Amino acid sequence: MTVDTLPPRMRIVRHPLKYRLLEVRKVDRITPSTVRVTFGGEELEGFCEQAPTDHVKLCFAEDGAELPVEPVVVNDTWMDAPVEPITRDYTVRHYRRDTRELDVDMVLHGRGVASSWAERAEPGMRLGVLGPRGSEVLPMVHDWYLLAAEETALPALARWLEKLPAGVRVIAFAEVAGPEDEQEFRTATDLTMTWLHRGSAPAGTTDLLERAIRAAELPADGLGFAWVAGEATSLKPVRRYLRRELGLAKEQVDVDGYWKRGVENHDHHEDEEHEHA
Ligand SMILES: Cc1cc2nc3c(=O)[nH]c(=O)nc-3n(C[C@H](O)[C@H](O)[C@H](O)COP(=O)(O)OP(=O)(O)OC[C@H]3O[C@@H](n4cnc5c(N)ncnc54)[C@H](O)[C@@H]3O)c2cc1C
Repeated sequence: MTVDTLPPRMRIVRHPLKYRLLEVRKVDRITPSTVRVTFGGEELEGFCEQAPTDHVKLCFAEDGAELPVEPVVVNDTWMDAPVEPITRDYTVRHYRRDTRELDVDMVLHGRGVASSWAERAEPGMRLGVLGPRGSEVLPMVHDWYLLAAEETALPALARWLEKLPAGVRVIAFAEVAGPEDEQEFRTATDLTMTWLHRGSAPAGTTDLLERAIRAAELPADGLGFAWVAGEATSLKPVRRYLRRELGLAKEQVDVDGYWKRGVENHDHHEDEEHEHA
């Protein structure tokens, strides 16, 4: 590969890091397994979002406390402190600047501080929101895109589909429990979308995404980019396949473990192979 043909790199654009205490305005069960929580308030003034995978840290109160511990932020850096908030990562599904409203789609998986909070979320409740700290910006100049996700990464998949250029070829796979968990996405791309149903198998235990990606008919020519996100352990073979067997360069692949079976608050930056984190 010559310097001229090197695929474009993802670039991190930093944003001023701000903590906001926001009020829930609206709660919608968009599918049986997912709740859309709309936060609002003047506090959202200056909120930045730019790239498909932009995410915030939701900050939850300790048991028995009404409000979360406020994170200590100095010069756009989240500092270590004797008491830290309980945080989880969530994608910015929509931000409406005119009405200062932020939508976050939260999967109800039955355990965990975030999922349990989402189960009982109702207008008037308050939650801390830190970030986004930055955006992973990819020049969208590729000839084709492979996108794949399970429920937790559907908000980011939807954002990819909304932001990719009109007419560009996209092959996308989404794993959900069943047809009732499928969602409709807006896109101007030339999209082939395939939904995969895992039925009664627990989330994160199947190889449906891997098998679909291996069997996908990807364009033989042109520059491609692959983004895949979901349960960390199940995605390891996907990353290996894309890099080693398909031979995509590291700049052409972003595979991100959004959660890990058996691990509370999995840190996606921990995964050394997430090359764009
Ligand atoms: C960049 C990024 C963006 C993300 N965006 C979203 C988003 O928009 N919407 C969303 O719902 N999630 C999203 N996630 C995933 C979310 O942060 C994790 O699922 C998180 O673990 C949920 O916290 P919890 O408190 O509910 O569970 P935790 O306390 O973290 O975990 C408790 C137990 O539940 C398991 N668990 C965690 N998540 C799931 C799951 N989805 N299904 C089954 N078991 C699970 C864990 O393995 C653990 O055993 C994102 C993650 C990252 C890194």
